[in-house]
Amino acid sequence: MSLDIKTLANRYNTPLYVYDFDKITKQYEELKGAFNGKKSLVAYAVKSNSNLAVIRHLAKLGAGADCVSIGEVQRALKAGVSKYKIIFSGVGKKDDEIRQALQAGILLINLESEAEMKRVEMIAKSLNIQARISIRVNPDVDPKTHRYISTGLHENKFGVSIQSAKRMYIYAKKSEYLNSIGIHFHIGSQLTQLAPIQEACAIVADLVRSLQALDIKIKFFDIGGGLGVTYNDEIMITPEAYAHAITQTIKGLDVTILLEPGRYLMANSGIFLTKVLYEKKNGTKRFVIVDGAMNDLLRPSLYNAYHKIEAIQKEGETTLADVVGPVCESGDFLGKDVPLPMMEHNDILVVQSAGAYGFTMSSNYNTRGRSAEVAILDGKDYLIRQRESFEDLIRLEEACDTSWQG
Ligand SMILES: *Cc1c(COP(=O)(O)O)cnc(C)c1O
Repeated sequence: MSLDIKTLANRYNTPLYVYDFDKITKQYEELKGAFNGKKSLVAYAVKSNSNLAVIRHLAKLGAGADCVSIGEVQRALKAGVSKYKIIFSGVGKKDDEIRQALQAGILLINLESEAEMKRVEMIAKSLNIQARISIRVNPDVDPKTHRYISTGLHENKFGVSIQSAKRMYIYAKKSEYLNSIGIHFHIGSQLTQLAPIQEACAIVADLVRSLQALDIKIKFFDIGGGLGVTYNDEIMITPEAYAHAITQTIKGLDVTILLEPGRYLMANSGIFLTKVLYEKKNGTKRFVIVDGAMNDLLRPSLYNAYHKIEAIQKEGETTLADVVGPVCESGDFLGKDVPLPMMEHNDILVVQSAGAYGFTMSSNYNTRGRSAEVAILDGKDYLIRQRESFEDLIRLEEACDTSWQG
């Protein structure tokens, strides 16, 4: 990032998220470019970073949006994503979410169960429209990633088996209100091995072929997201290898490939800045207490995820320290055994790879206002979300009548 981190931390205060929009462009172009010559659409997984400015930036590059709630669909529309590039996924859609998605006329609703298909059919019927659907298949392959972010095994809650998918497509074909134009799988996140993706892809491609034999034509082949990134020393699957594996596996199928990357576009396009409050020792254990916490960046606490943490403009011999926040939980840490020089009040730490599943997973736990967010484009910085104030946090309580309490 070309702008001086210290300047940003002082200008906007901390904790702070900073996103490099030029890097987002680069990641998008590399992935899209790898599928050059093939019909494809990159539908950005909005849940990874749903700031309107981020979605708007990607929409301008031509990206669509993969959404997991009607709120995300509304964000995508608001940010200027064409409705024909919006996909609505998720295991538990409510009736009014389904209704709104159908009324908005988005590209696809992704179905995750037979029961959901019947609800969508019923709601489409009540609106007297045809729902464009795709079915999420659970190919039952082990993605070899963290068990919390693995989704393609039969014991995970996502999708339906090949057998029930087939039944669902046959049912949909007979329905006046369902138009099954897509098929979908997403086997997990932070994937660093190609083999499981290829295996899943082959299984789903076989299903598409057998559907063709039943005169059910699939136009959109949605390979989900999940491309891994480097947090520490992981070796990434290159976009070229990914594209090659996929296109080889589905050779002969006349489909548009849908991709749903989140982490790949955003993780290393963002950093999280936090200031040191105190140094402290409990026995021999060293703690660096900072103003950012698990409510701001949950991944370390939730998944024991690793984020590289570095001190800015600080020299000297390093020793290991746990970097912890002010939240009243032992699980509140940003890093464990981080090599750091002696730190002083107001020194700045950079938490790397924080652009995906950072801000979007943040909360107001401990009545902490959520961080501000800043975009960097062409060497200039822009505020894209204000820091939450105390008034923001209590607004919805203040809006209620309290007279019953005397
Ligand atoms: C979470 C999710 C994604 C994005 O996953 P990344 O690992 O961020 O690429 C894509 N598709 C679906 C259905 C998801 O649930």
